[in-house]
Amino acid sequence: MPDYPDHAAADVSELWKKRHTAAHVMAQAVLEIFPDAQLAIGPPIEDGFYYDFDLPRTLTPDDLADIEARMRRIQGENLPLTRSEKPREEALTWEREHGQSYKVELINDLPEGETISFYTQGPFTDLCRGPHVAGTGQIGVFKLDRVAGAYWRGDERRPQLQRIYGVLFDTPQELEEYYARLEEAKKRDHRVLGRQLGLFVFSDDIGSGIPLFLPKGEIVRHTMESYVRDVQTRYGYQHVWTGHLVKEELYKKSGHYDNYLDAMFPPLVDPDGPTFRLKPMNCPSHMTLFNAGLHSYRDLPLRYAEFATLYRYEKSGELNGLTRVRSLTQDDCHIFCTPDQIEGEFTLALRLIREVLQRYGFEDYRVRLSLRDENPDSKFVKDDERWVLATQALRNALEANNVQYFEAAGEAAFYGPKADFLTRDVLGREWQISTIQVDFIQPQRLGCQYIGEDSQPHTPVVLHRAVTGSTERFLGVLIEHYAGAFPTWLAPCRRSSCPSPTDTKNMPTAWPPDCARRASGRTWTGATKKSARRSPRRRCRRSPICWSSATATPPPGPSPSASAAAPTWARCRWTISSPA
Ligand SMILES: [Zn+2]
Ligand SMILES: [Zn+2]
Repeated sequence: MPDYPDHAAADVSELWKKRHTAAHVMAQAVLEIFPDAQLAIGPPIEDGFYYDFDLPRTLTPDDLADIEARMRRIQGENLPLTRSEKPREEALTWEREHGQSYKVELINDLPEGETISFYTQGPFTDLCRGPHVAGTGQIGVFKLDRVAGAYWRGDERRPQLQRIYGVLFDTPQELEEYYARLEEAKKRDHRVLGRQLGLFVFSDDIGSGIPLFLPKGEIVRHTMESYVRDVQTRYGYQHVWTGHLVKEELYKKSGHYDNYLDAMFPPLVDPDGPTFRLKPMNCPSHMTLFNAGLHSYRDLPLRYAEFATLYRYEKSGELNGLTRVRSLTQDDCHIFCTPDQIEGEFTLALRLIREVLQRYGFEDYRVRLSLRDENPDSKFVKDDERWVLATQALRNALEANNVQYFEAAGEAAFYGPKADFLTRDVLGREWQISTIQVDFIQPQRLGCQYIGEDSQPHTPVVLHRAVTGSTERFLGVLIEHYAGAFPTWLAPCRRSSCPSPTDTKNMPTAWPPDCARRASGRTWTGATKKSARRSPRRRCRRSPICWSSATATPPPGPSPSASAAAPTWARCRWTISSPA
């Protein structure tokens, strides 16, 4: 509930305060034009701020210009912001007298004993926890951007409000750069490029939020996944597969049913049998696999990885191209280890994540250590001792690896703290990609055990780890990061110089230099007469597509005969292996 936001997070910068104050200035301007306007929430956001209003009519572009002009006047007046507190009843009466029913609801939702504060600038007062800049003159350089519809509390059954977005930076130059970035981002929009490049489509016949990958898109997906698979294998991970349906009962045991129900699709009820759910996460499945065998401390750490397609219910209004979908494929992994091994395993996972992000050209990232909050009603499992242990283990591991991190209260998973990797793309936008989470809770709930050195059963710790997160979302980020120009090893393009596999008449006598170079992984120095005669002909029949892969290798097994040329199309796709 953002206009009474939890500012406990240490991330309240000067710019954040300016953006927050600007939202108040905008509300004051809107009330000047519409004295009966009802105010909902108005938080600072990345790049600016917004405020949701319930207004007597739809806003026009002229209104926006008018509001902006009034905001500049209020900025010029440099009104000081003063804080005051009111007891709950007085605060409620005050909001009721001013006809602000949304604020009444916000106050009613505040926990008992919470301080209820207001901020006043000139004639305008708003319920808010702050903090703010000292005066309206200090809000920086802003521009009102657009109006959008927004449901009160994101709930489509509640009233629809008008949300005015503003952009705000410290300097005019930064504002200009922001709009230049926005222009560039539009050109890179993965939804547009994805269609133009023939990578994926969405269809009403299939349903929103479920991307369908065309042949080229599948090649990229496959290349991405086999690259991560190879890296994971090198780091000692074992790959498993655990299907798409799971008995609902298992999610009740693991705690996901209580904490994750909103994100699950409705149950699949078999009248003669158990109730199933489409799998929204893999953890309980991997723990069930762990429980299928007996384990000694000598077997640990055990690292199970899976490229698993999961199904998560997202509201249709929140779906967005590949970056927010309902079917997603996670490069998920669960590491079963002893408490002593957490730090070492974290270090290893960190190294793996760094290697993979670097390969994709993401050099700049920071880590958010997501912790539970102290609210007794929160979703987090109540087990202080284990939480403290897990949090300390993560902090130690981050510090031992010299990783800079910041802490965010209330952002943890329900079962434990996590380290999320926030990566910047070429446009400077931040994406959460990788994550490592420590879990003392689920393995205990699901009865995971190993026999320790003392010959006694113990519960392992589980580290949940995703490196590129979901293939779909990461591909969406990559398309925009590369502006559709994939690096050679990832590119799905079928080179026009490569003939069709069945077209044996038009075989080239020599490879185009870049083709041969990429194919061999070495610098091309010119084909010998012999190789110019033979190798292109043979390779081309096999791999019409894969020449843009850095280490394209022929498929294993005997060379396909001329009559078997057609099936090689299918096989060719699999010849794209990961980069060395
Ligand atoms: Zn405020
Ligand atoms: Zn997990």
